[in-house]
Amino acid sequence: MRVAFLGLGAIGEPMASHLAKPPFELTVWNRTTDKATDFARRHTVVAASSAADAVRHADVVVTCLPSSREVKGLVAGHGGLLSQLKPGAALVDCTSGDPASSREIAALLRDREVDFVDAPVSGGVKGAVAGTLTVMCGGSEQSIDRVRPVLSAFAGKIVRCGEVGTGHAVKAMNQALLAIHIWSAGECLATLARLGVGAAAALEVINGSSGRSNTSENLFPERVLGRAFPRTFRLALLDKDVAIAADIASQVDAPSPFIDLAARLFREAHDLLGDEADHVEAIKVIEERAGVIIV
Ligand code: NDP
Repeated sequence: MRVAFLGLGAIGEPMASHLAKPPFELTVWNRTTDKATDFARRHTVVAASSAADAVRHADVVVTCLPSSREVKGLVAGHGGLLSQLKPGAALVDCTSGDPASSREIAALLRDREVDFVDAPVSGGVKGAVAGTLTVMCGGSEQSIDRVRPVLSAFAGKIVRCGEVGTGHAVKAMNQALLAIHIWSAGECLATLARLGVGAAAALEVINGSSGRSNTSENLFPERVLGRAFPRTFRLALLDKDVAIAADIASQVDAPSPFIDLAARLFREAHDLLGDEADHVEAIKVIEERAGVIIV
């Protein structure tokens, strides 16, 4: 099966590495060419010099870009992929995108007899390296079954959520929960710090109690306690995700005060900390406002 992988960023790179072996014939492309040529050298696969060259013969094209805007730009922009994809191919969008854009992209591709599946992932860079990502898919059962061998190469779990766009909707809500967990855990620990209670003791209690989450069990012990904030998932991307969640809630008239507040707080944190900060660094804004360091 010929696969083209477009976007070798923090998570795209380890995902693509699972496709660099039979039964796949992998071609990679990345906007910054050096990353693709370096990947191709390390994995003995082909690096294409343009996205159009990468997809021309592909049975399955995987995109992993910051947002649906970049995917749409690549597919439908000037000199886009639309005319290059072969009829009968499938495009799997692993970007954490937005449902409305996915439906537009799917409609454009349908005219070219190309299938579309939105297939955002969860599990972080660690999960991508281990090949244990959770993939949430939007698309017909038939389309998802066709691309399942590709998804299985980096997935521990594949769930069909419904028609095109629903994978992106579920991902956005998962990200809203992640943002709420980070901010609320940060506020609780900053409050305890002002009382003189250390974060290690507080987390030991919380992680044996009903307030625990992946944030309290993994992210905070690994990153906040040790004051190491590896840039595995940019705050800018979480800001984008929570904004998508708030938009979806507004479009379907679902009351969403928590999601809206998380969207505002993460936009503020992104503005304050910049494009390159990691998502867990958002707690630095809470610390600054509370006048404490969570240690
Ligand atoms: P990065 O910022 O690390 O990488 C982004 C990738 O997109 C790079 O390959 C970049 O190319 C490329 N890119 C950016 N703008 C354009 C453009 N205009 N045209 C073409 N290519 C472009 O992001 P991640 O790899 O972390 O994330 C990718 C997607 O996966 C996002 O939607 C994110 O929300 C999602 N995700 C990320 C997770 C993580 O832990 N990192 C976890 C789960 C989902 P270049 O190298 O030239 O900059």
